[in-house]
Amino acid sequence: MTHSPFINVDSFMAELKAKNQAEPEFHQAVHEVVLSLAEFLNENPKYQKAGILDRIVEAERVIMFRIPWLDDKGNMCVNRGFRIEMNSAIGPYKGGLRFHPTVNLGILKFLAFEQVFKNSLTTLPMGGGKGGSDFDPKGKTDNEVMRFCQSFMTELYRHIGPNTDVPAGDIGVGGREIGFLFGQYKRIANEFTGILTGKGINWGGSLIRPEATGYGNVYFAKEMLATKGDSFKGKTVLVSGSGNVAQYTVEKVIELEGKVVTLSDSSGYIYDPAGIDTEKLEWVMELKNIKRGRISEYAEKYGVKFIKGGRPWGEKGDIALPSATQNEIEEQDALTLVKNGCICVSEGANMPSTPDAIEVYIEKKILYGPGKAANAGGVAVSGLEMTQNSMRLGWTREEVDQRLQVIMKDIHSTCIQYGKKDNGFVNYMDGANIGGFVKVADAMISQGAV
Ligand code: NDP
Repeated sequence: MTHSPFINVDSFMAELKAKNQAEPEFHQAVHEVVLSLAEFLNENPKYQKAGILDRIVEAERVIMFRIPWLDDKGNMCVNRGFRIEMNSAIGPYKGGLRFHPTVNLGILKFLAFEQVFKNSLTTLPMGGGKGGSDFDPKGKTDNEVMRFCQSFMTELYRHIGPNTDVPAGDIGVGGREIGFLFGQYKRIANEFTGILTGKGINWGGSLIRPEATGYGNVYFAKEMLATKGDSFKGKTVLVSGSGNVAQYTVEKVIELEGKVVTLSDSSGYIYDPAGIDTEKLEWVMELKNIKRGRISEYAEKYGVKFIKGGRPWGEKGDIALPSATQNEIEEQDALTLVKNGCICVSEGANMPSTPDAIEVYIEKKILYGPGKAANAGGVAVSGLEMTQNSMRLGWTREEVDQRLQVIMKDIHSTCIQYGKKDNGFVNYMDGANIGGFVKVADAMISQGAV
């Protein structure tokens, strides 16, 4: 196939949709990137000539497999497992595993595609991948989760390796699951090696890895606010989710003297006008990570309101840090946020804003940090975990946190470098998409027809 030096976004998308049917989230993620890249590609025809766009939307490898496992009653259960090895131009595939009933091929392809750009932005040598299963850990016992993880790894182990593909956690995959997965890998492969990140601290994990995505998002938002001479101090902050990313987002916002008033889960959200302080946050961590309860219990415990089935975006806040899942802020939510005085949206979750919501942020010129830049701190510290594993050394908390802060600052600078418009407005989405693309695309050109 020969390539026109000029990109036609509509016909490119029509072809992509025909080839990847029933994958709306993947279409959405690609469309956003292609819109950002169109002008840049037209000004730099070498990328179209080398067919980079056609290649970058095609996974290098997609693995789908059966996961049979027995529940506590001895019933045979079957789930579907996936690993998308999207792009290895700048390093081994790297990206999380998601266990959630909504998981399907299209969702993981969108996440793997985003991951390629995100990992490139971190400045570390990591390619992009993503995987997971439609398994729902909610309501399962520890033993059931362990048997599931062992069955999942029994197939996955042959596809991963410290120099090939290094998965991590994502929704539904935290320290407990990483432990079970690692144990099974070690048993089958008969080697102790860094094939997963997010490991326990006494068996190869890195300090600050659990905190990294939430902290990193707050560092990124801090950089954006600083461009306006502003900060978190005294700001009211809306956070969604109540899992790993949300919890450490709250911790860092408290440290920077902001006040978080909301948290959510898939059942609804709580609104605490007095703010979630350190003590309440500790209670949430115990509730979510150990008791595995619901956020509605916070409302009972602290006497605040719980809005069943709702999302936090109708509450008044200066800053919004969505940290739950994709497409959780729609156009109307974005309009409400802006109307209520929100000056900054920074995405801890992957693709939490719909394209219409993003249009609102950009039109109203509020600070908008897209997930692939703002939440890259998690994978960045995963990259630092790989480095420590290779050296067989562990860095201190301060050292890892310092490196994380430098990386988030560098990502912010890259976004400004590629996203600053003639009128001075910084479109961080364009900046992240172009900045992430260039490094991967140049590496693909150097490596020939791969
Ligand atoms: P967790 O599983 O720890 O927490 C997820 C939270 O989001 C839970 O509160 C969960 O509620 C809620 N949630 C999940 N799915 C939905 C849904 N469909 N509707 C409403 N709420 C939902 O995951 P993480 O905190 O790790 O991940 C959160 C987001 O951050 C995801 O988008 C993930 O891709 C992204 N991310 C995570 C990174 C990491 O290092 N962990 C790195 C970069 C991005 P419930 O318990 O009720 O399901």
